[in-house]
Parts: sequence; C-alpha cells; structure tokens
Amino acid sequence: MFGVLPAIIDPIQLADDGSSLEGEFSLDGMSRLREMCRNTEGRVRVRLRFECTAQKVRVMQGVISARLDLTCQRCLQAATQEMDIATRLLLLRPGESRTGLPEEADILEVTAPVSLCAMVEDELLLALPMTPRHSEGECAPAAISVSRARDPRADPKAPASPFSGLADLKRKE
Ligand SMILES: [Zn+2]
Repeated sequence: MFGVLPAIIDPIQLADDGSSLEGEFSLDGMSRLREMCRNTEGRVRVRLRFECTAQKVRVMQGVISARLDLTCQRCLQAATQEMDIATRLLLLRPGESRTGLPEEADILEVTAPVSLCAMVEDELLLALPMTPRHSEGECAPAAISVSRARDPRADPKAPASPFSGLADLKRKE
C-alpha cells in the first residue's frame, strides 16, 4: 500500500526519529520531468529510510522507481523508461563537520526543510538518458514496412507507424 508523501520534509528530524517514507508522486507536480514525457501517466514511487548510524551520522537511503513514457529519439515512438535509482545521502546540518565521512559519499547539507518532490525529481532528471532510445532492434517499424508493423513480435502496446492510419483512410476511399 502506497501512502501520500509529504510535500516538504525535514530530513534531519526524520533521521533522528528513524522514520520511513513510502508513497507515490504523480507527474503533475514535476513540471521539469513532465516536459520530457509524452503524457502524465508516469508514476514515481519513493521508498526512503532515514536513520542515525552508530557513528552518529544521519543517513537517508532508499529507492526511487519510475515508469515514464519518453520519446525514442531514433523512431520517435513511445519508449517506456523504467528506472530504479538507489539513493544514499549523508545528511549534515549547517556547520557540521565532514571529517571522518567517506570521501565518495553524497552529502546533503540541510539548511532548511526540503521539498521531497523536487528532490526526487532532481534524482530522476540526473538519471534519465540524455537521448532516450529503444534498445537495438526494438524501434517501431519504419513507415515503409507495413508488413513489419503487423509483426506479432512487435510490442502490442507500441503504437503502429504513424502512417498506418493513412493507409486505412486510403482504403476507405
Ligand atoms: Zn525507437
């Protein structure tokens, strides 16, 4: 069961409380991400755990999962992108020392309450491919190859070539 996520969080407080967050965001609240999608049907799922380690380091970690309808830059048809992003941030309050923290750790200095939605959106934007593409050989069939468009191996959910509709129209004439 996925609950409603808070819009604004205080990661430090959540870590001190040992809280977890689990829920979904719709794309409606993520304008930058929505611009890259063909529709707003995509869903973003968030599962985060906040804790304080034995070394007194506050940590936020979890998984951001998304299923987004992007446009393949090779065939210009819909290409569904599934993403599972494992995220782990060490949380510091302003002025807290980084001494002793692992060099490679991602650190979030929490100076004010954080927009969870914007933070999740940032993570997704960073992980999105610059030029989304179907895997090799999975592009929608070219418009000239109508027979291939009916290939049963083709993804039944993928829209047929943009010209198949034209062919139907012509037949009706
Ligand atoms: Zn393609």
